Amino acid sequence: MKLVNTISEIKSIISLQKQKGTTIGFVPTMGALHEGHLSLVRRAKTECDIVVTSIFVNPSQFNDPNDLKKYPRTLESDLELLEKEQCELVFAPTEMEISGSEKPDVSQYDFGPLESVMEGKFRPGHFKGVAYIVHSLFEIITPDKAYFGEKDFQQLTIIHELVKKYELPVEIIHCSTVRESDGLAMSSRNINLSEEERKTALLLSSSLYRAKDLSNSLSPLKVKDQIIKELQSEIQLQLEYFDIVDSEKLNPINEWNESYHVRACISAYVGNTRLIDNMRLIP
Ligand code: AMP
Repeated sequence: MKLVNTISEIKSIISLQKQKGTTIGFVPTMGALHEGHLSLVRRAKTECDIVVTSIFVNPSQFNDPNDLKKYPRTLESDLELLEKEQCELVFAPTEMEISGSEKPDVSQYDFGPLESVMEGKFRPGHFKGVAYIVHSLFEIITPDKAYFGEKDFQQLTIIHELVKKYELPVEIIHCSTVRESDGLAMSSRNINLSEEERKTALLLSSSLYRAKDLSNSLSPLKVKDQIIKELQSEIQLQLEYFDIVDSEKLNPINEWNESYHVRACISAYVGNTRLIDNMRLIP
């Protein structure tokens, strides 16, 4: 496994590989790697000749400077984990290497309602920053396939739009959310949870499973109201949103309809840690 920090070096390695007809799988991450990230790397290993994993905590997607400051950074153990997975290349640039000394202009990335609902409502500008870094990394790495987790479902929707809008020659592969055995979605942010908070955090996944159950007997609006009512009675958790949306346009839905996929999406603070999760409800 080779660790590369500069754009010029990674580009020249990839260009040599491409001349040999090698296919490139790409896994963009912000580090603090866990089984969720590694599942993406494993999938990429089975479908591509070589795998590039990037590790870059992208400032332009953080609307809260404190959140950026406390985001976990564990480069050494990340490299050990990637080595074990036999990832061929790790690209870990500095902020200076990616954006220079100027704050990047992310205003060109406009996804309309897709970026203003759910996460977008609570993290204004977040998806512009995500689109900026993913577009930049795609241009540097030029992958054949790029792997993203359904854990960040709205992000996946935005990435599809990005690829369509800029006609990027890359296939986007969805990977299922990896959960702890009790249902908690794996997240780099889980490290920041105390033992007590870790228990409270289970309310996110359990409310999604419960919504799935309730969807057999109640309308989407009733399911949503019921779950919100239940979560608002939990004082250790501060709910931001619980929405039931169609998987493509992320519009709230009023009735169950077999002709499109439906997701329930949730975000909440447990203590100072902001967590998100989502689950497919139907079909
Ligand atoms: P992050 O480092 O949080 O930016 O995540 C990098 C990639 O890993 C994104 O595509 C995430 O959706 C994906 N990911 C994060 N957590 C999980 C998980 N529990 N299961 C599957 N994929 C995940």
